[in-house]
Amino acid sequence: MAKEAESKWNGFSLKRRKEMPDGLWMRCPGCEHMLYRSAVEKNLNVCPECNHHFRIEAATRIKYLVDEGSFEEILSDLTTHDPLGFKYRGTTYKQRIKADEKKCGAKEAMRIGKAFIKGRGIVLGAMEPNFLMGSMGFVVGEKFCAAVDKAIEELLPLVVVCCSGGARMHEGVVSLGQMAKTSAALAKLDEAKGLFISVLTDPTTGGVTASFAMLGDCLIAEPGALIGFAGPRTVAETIKVELPEGFQTAEFMLEHGFVDMIVHRRDLRSEIARLIDYCKK
Ligand SMILES: [Zn+2]
Repeated sequence: MAKEAESKWNGFSLKRRKEMPDGLWMRCPGCEHMLYRSAVEKNLNVCPECNHHFRIEAATRIKYLVDEGSFEEILSDLTTHDPLGFKYRGTTYKQRIKADEKKCGAKEAMRIGKAFIKGRGIVLGAMEPNFLMGSMGFVVGEKFCAAVDKAIEELLPLVVVCCSGGARMHEGVVSLGQMAKTSAALAKLDEAKGLFISVLTDPTTGGVTASFAMLGDCLIAEPGALIGFAGPRTVAETIKVELPEGFQTAEFMLEHGFVDMIVHRRDLRSEIARLIDYCKK
């Protein structure tokens, strides 16, 4: 009998992760310890016991990353329409958007704007994992390209924090088109000799990995982040082999040359600032 590929992975879930339930205490999925929520929050949402990096929303990410109060958001009102009249299991795309808007307060899965990191001007993009799983539809593609244009126009480095389940199925081929669009925009940035630092956080998958996430001049990953195209179970079932330990983790990606460095959340600011100086941008 053929050996069954072992994988605990159950596919990408559109549900909000249960790892951050409301209350005083929380359980760390990394070490199973019960932790004081406030202690974790004080530690930039990183487990003080095992260094597990919790998933964070765009607003928190921006707060951690940039100089206090320096983020000037642009295109915050850009919202998607429903190009396909999409409906899945009785729920329409429009209903999903409304529900996620209400749940996380975001209007789309990416926020962009200008900011400073340790006094260095940048154009920043931060993906919103709680809005349709940070998926890339028309608006995310459009915002990303606007951020690239701004970086070219003002000769600023572009920093994008990726956190995404991939292309947004609700927009079908329109979503897939964003892969080509964002990649073409980055080719323009490259011609203009711009700098693009891509920060890969848990999870960076699907069409986002297959387009702009991997096109950074420098790829920084957070420890333990899931980075890949298709999920491990799909890969295991397709190629019918047992996957190596740690498959698709940031550490595995570093070992195999897919990312340049793994940086702890507390060091991201100084590391990005150092890279900007090093590249003389
Ligand atoms: Zn832990």
